[in-house]
Amino acid sequence: MQNDIKLFTELVDFLLDEEVNNPVATPIDTDKLYQTIDIKLNDDPVIDADFKSTLKQIIKSTPKTASTSFFNQLFGGRISRATLGDLLAVMLNNSMYTYKVAGVQVGIEKEILKNVCERIGYPSSCDGTLAPGGSMCNYMAMLMARDHFDTTIRYQGVSKQLIAYTSETSHYSITKNASFIGIGRDQVRSIKTNAKGEMLVSDLQEKIEDDLEQGYAPFFVNATAGTTVLGAFDDVTAISEICKAYGLWLHLDGAYCGSVIFSEDYKHLVAGVEHTNSFSFNAHKMLGTPLGCSIIVTRDKAHLYQSFSNDADYLYQTNDDLFNLGKTSIQCGRRNDALKLWTLWKSIGHKGLEAIVNHQFYLAEVAREYIKEHPDYQLYSFDNSISVCFNYKGIPAKTLCTKLYEHSQLMVGYGTFRDDTFVRLVTINTQVQKEDVLRFFKTLESFVETENL
Ligand SMILES: *Cc1c(COP(=O)(O)O)cnc(C)c1O
Repeated sequence: MQNDIKLFTELVDFLLDEEVNNPVATPIDTDKLYQTIDIKLNDDPVIDADFKSTLKQIIKSTPKTASTSFFNQLFGGRISRATLGDLLAVMLNNSMYTYKVAGVQVGIEKEILKNVCERIGYPSSCDGTLAPGGSMCNYMAMLMARDHFDTTIRYQGVSKQLIAYTSETSHYSITKNASFIGIGRDQVRSIKTNAKGEMLVSDLQEKIEDDLEQGYAPFFVNATAGTTVLGAFDDVTAISEICKAYGLWLHLDGAYCGSVIFSEDYKHLVAGVEHTNSFSFNAHKMLGTPLGCSIIVTRDKAHLYQSFSNDADYLYQTNDDLFNLGKTSIQCGRRNDALKLWTLWKSIGHKGLEAIVNHQFYLAEVAREYIKEHPDYQLYSFDNSISVCFNYKGIPAKTLCTKLYEHSQLMVGYGTFRDDTFVRLVTINTQVQKEDVLRFFKTLESFVETENL
């Protein structure tokens, strides 16, 4: 073990150097990948020296998500206190299903869940769990909503035409999950949005009324805190009133920006979250923990047990159910995703988490201001979003982003809203500073100049 720990440290040093000196790895064409790096698996073992040099090659050509040139996705950067926790979780290698095998780690997960529940104003009946990703959190929410609507479905399957509602700008997992929970993708109503990509509550109500008239069974509404492209926040309070009036489960998908609950300045963006039936967020997005760290809470823990508990005597042999987390999980064996958030939270406190969130909004504002001051740019984003969407000199966003990547300049993606496609600069990496954002624009501009785009 000690030898591999030594090797690990050496490889990490190599990676950290690469991140600074080659922040955007040279992309390898997929059809050349297997010739370029020796990743093929063979009958015979590889000698140590080759093993090490292959690992270095792999590190060198793997996209650097922690570099300050990475703005491609809704995660990025590395916060070392969180990484430390995840490395420890790997070494400890517990499975979170029982107190017997996870011990204090269960308490750590429960401490996180309790804090999140208090923060959003849920009653003491609430509870939650960690799931492998935001898509899975949405899946769990839809399952709980389905079983709450009709407690017989778990045993007998779906017989009514259940209808779910989500905005046209929400995450694709809602539609996908509709097939997983057995109601079918066609039973998801796509609710129109306003010019900012926020759900139109009037359209939601009309569609519910229509469905009721047709004899369908509305059961679930998904609202979004931070839509995937524009970073828009649905009006949770207004939507919750509709849900209350029609008796529908309200889930708030905060995978992207639900972490605003940690900021006094920005928690107003999810005002009304206390009226939801379930809420989820990805700490591996705004809070910058390593992937994945996805949390879902529900206001009444009975729903978690109703949908996810199974009796399994071979597993649950000691301690009370509250500490046997397997009973509220979609998984059996489960990785410890809680420790990395706990090590971060413990070491920097609520105040530190708040500063992380605020910094991202600050960087987005820096970017928006820059764009507004430079007439070659066209801005598509609004205030209070950490997705800064723009076009430069009318260059097609796809061309620009692809070329920047192929030339190892910057990693940034593009998105589409209605008729517009644009570059989407995501200011979610907490290590990025104002200078890095300004450098992003300078790099882009001089690249366009030299490449004659
Ligand atoms: C990222 C995202 C998800 C999916 O989360 P994963 O962890 O990638 O599964 C769901 N909803 C929204 C709004 C997201 O931005």
